[in-house]
Amino acid sequence: MQCTHCGREVRETIHWQKNYKVDYYLLHTGETEWTFFTNLKEDAPPLRYLKLTQPIDIITCVQCYGYPEIQQRLDDDFSGRRSFSGEVAEGAQPTHLLSKG
Ligand SMILES: [Zn+2]
Repeated sequence: MQCTHCGREVRETIHWQKNYKVDYYLLHTGETEWTFFTNLKEDAPPLRYLKLTQPIDIITCVQCYGYPEIQQRLDDDFSGRRSFSGEVAEGAQPTHLLSKG
């Protein structure tokens, strides 16, 4: 598994006897679309619901999770304000790496 943002390999969470080390965070998201579910009862309005059409797992390593802008984008996706998936291009470099040095 690789971090969605920087592409580095992430490890499974390591557990010790009394504590543990988290290497990445997983956000289960995806493309969604509004769909109507026709109510079987006559005269009842159809039910509207958000259908997950293409599930996507966003993996964020602990380093990338430390960036406020990435946390904000994950939070936006989770709360439905803005989709994360549409903005992650294949092989694209995260902006925070390009702005260094
Ligand atoms: Zn990363």
